[in-house]
Amino acid sequence: MPIIHLTKYFMVPCCVPAEKNFKKNRFFFILSLNLGFLMLLSIQFSFQNAYWGFWAHKRINRLAVMRLPVEMQFFYRQNIDYLTENATNPDKRRYSVVGEAERHFIDLDMYGDSALHILPRYWPDAVKKLGEDSLRKHGIVPWHVQTAAFQLTNAFKEKDAARILRISADLGHYIADAHVPLHTTRNYNGQLTNQEGIHGFWESRLPELFADKYDLWIGAAEYKDPIAEQIWNTVAASHLASDSVLLFEKELSKDFKPDKKYSYELRNNVLTRTYSREFSEKYHQLLHNQVEHRMRLSIKMVGDIWYTCWVNAGQPDLKELSGFTFNGADKKIDGAEEAGWFKRLFMVRPEAED
Ligand SMILES: [Zn+2]
Repeated sequence: MPIIHLTKYFMVPCCVPAEKNFKKNRFFFILSLNLGFLMLLSIQFSFQNAYWGFWAHKRINRLAVMRLPVEMQFFYRQNIDYLTENATNPDKRRYSVVGEAERHFIDLDMYGDSALHILPRYWPDAVKKLGEDSLRKHGIVPWHVQTAAFQLTNAFKEKDAARILRISADLGHYIADAHVPLHTTRNYNGQLTNQEGIHGFWESRLPELFADKYDLWIGAAEYKDPIAEQIWNTVAASHLASDSVLLFEKELSKDFKPDKKYSYELRNNVLTRTYSREFSEKYHQLLHNQVEHRMRLSIKMVGDIWYTCWVNAGQPDLKELSGFTFNGADKKIDGAEEAGWFKRLFMVRPEAED
């Protein structure tokens, strides 16, 4: 192998006999290749584990557009591809923007059994009571959804097309994350109960396998105010569901040997360990449409909150924004987000630390 010949010439320390060194270096070279391969596997696995799958986020934003009244459809339909494609921007930003990571979750169990009574509904009250650093450490999704909704309402008032679209895409993402049970517990990836990987299993693997049978068509958007109440009810329901997400996986695992529980699939030319189809099917049945139900509720709430913000802004005429296209400067901002996300990959954990 030419690569091994290269090690012979470039990796021989001067104080060891050449032949012995060649064997030794070949061993380390092969070892490092294997380690590199394992790293690629684990990176691929951890990426999968990080969020509602990209597919689900895009689907949620896209279907939410269909629920809007005609006055809004006009503008949102014109830009449905933007809202779909950019539904995953906040996840990409988690590694490039300080303060982004904590917007996707809240570890309710960090606040004890009466978390929902302890935590103030509005951000200024929460900061006053618990301090900003502490809040950010354990996640701020219910407060950040309110902030983003406030920003969207202002963007509507100003008829700022680029901001309306950018904030709508982001808001759809945060609302969808709040519907994921494991986004409301510090045991977000089963790491405290020896169930690592369950995060991606629930929100990526299950939709990937079964979503084509989900019924995701929902009626017209409804006005829902106060938004604070909607989002706090959502995280409360998500947290209630997190027990069964963890418990059923634990129980089912007792009936499966590891080689039956997991399988390997080629994704983007990388061999990736994932949950086997058989194990996934059994788990999906045990959960009784839970993933479909949470996804339906996500679509419903995204449409409802976009609509509510538009009503609260005084129902501006969006026809005036027809023909809007993103200009060079707008695209540059999006491009910077895309490029920057990798920089902090090894500095930011997907969710909060203890
Ligand atoms: Zn997210």
